[in-house]
Amino acid sequence: MSIQIFIDGKFFPKEKAMVSVFDHGLLYGDGVFEGIRSYNGRVFKLKEHIDRLWESAHTLMLTIPMTKGEMVEAIVKTLKKNRLRDGYIRVVVTRGVGDLGLDPRKCPRATVFIIADKIKLYPESLYQKGLEIISVATTRSHPETVNPQIKSLNYLNNILAKIEAVNSGYEEALMLNAQGFVAECTGENVFVVRGNELLTPPPYLGILRGITRACAMEIGTSLGLDVREEVLTRHDIYNADEVFLTGTAAEIVPIVKVDNRVIGTGKPGRRTGEILAAFRGMTRTDGHAF
Ligand code: PMP
Repeated sequence: MSIQIFIDGKFFPKEKAMVSVFDHGLLYGDGVFEGIRSYNGRVFKLKEHIDRLWESAHTLMLTIPMTKGEMVEAIVKTLKKNRLRDGYIRVVVTRGVGDLGLDPRKCPRATVFIIADKIKLYPESLYQKGLEIISVATTRSHPETVNPQIKSLNYLNNILAKIEAVNSGYEEALMLNAQGFVAECTGENVFVVRGNELLTPPPYLGILRGITRACAMEIGTSLGLDVREEVLTRHDIYNADEVFLTGTAAEIVPIVKVDNRVIGTGKPGRRTGEILAAFRGMTRTDGHAF
């Protein structure tokens, strides 16, 4: 049976799950989304994801036509309908159907859809060997253009960076902000281990305030590391003892080379391994049971 997609309160099989070509999510990238994961029948950090979705929508003055409680129910219903205990959930709220102009007032009601599917796991070799990444010329959006803290449907900034990385033979791009400070990767936040310090760029530099990022910071503190948000340059990245990325889909990914500079020993670091293990422990026990 094909997967069942939630659209505005009803379920449709994947082949029949459609939104209008007049939806401003499609015409203008006008909308917000979340990527959430469930582990063994628990939705991990569900409240945090829902709060971030509402914050993104608030800035865009986009009214989500349901309560947060109803959103929780809709997500759980979608998982259950698809018999998924370990899944990846994509929640999308678009501005809705309007005319060909960009005026959001022409869109009377937001469109909400939820896709729950099997998570495509990264190969275990990625966590064993680590990943090599490259910094790219496309800078992260300035916070006063489209603030990277808004998880909006407009991901062209990240896609341009991804294209640059792929063109150079790499899977992931390190993005700087317009001032040349390290921001984040196209779909993950970045961390540096330096001695006893665990450092990550502050949100005001122009990053998404990642939920896995918050977990890594919490775990770092519990491991006795000095966890701080700090302005970092590429020099700081090249000379770190360890570098890793965090994200809902990727979890914690060790980085072993950046712009051909070997990081630390050139192998996934000890602290990165400890943080990954603790994170996987968290995903087994925390979360909204369904
Ligand atoms: N940065 C960007 C640009 C992202 O799209 C994401 C989510 N894929 C992240 C960071 C990581 O955020 P989270 O840990 O909440 O998934």
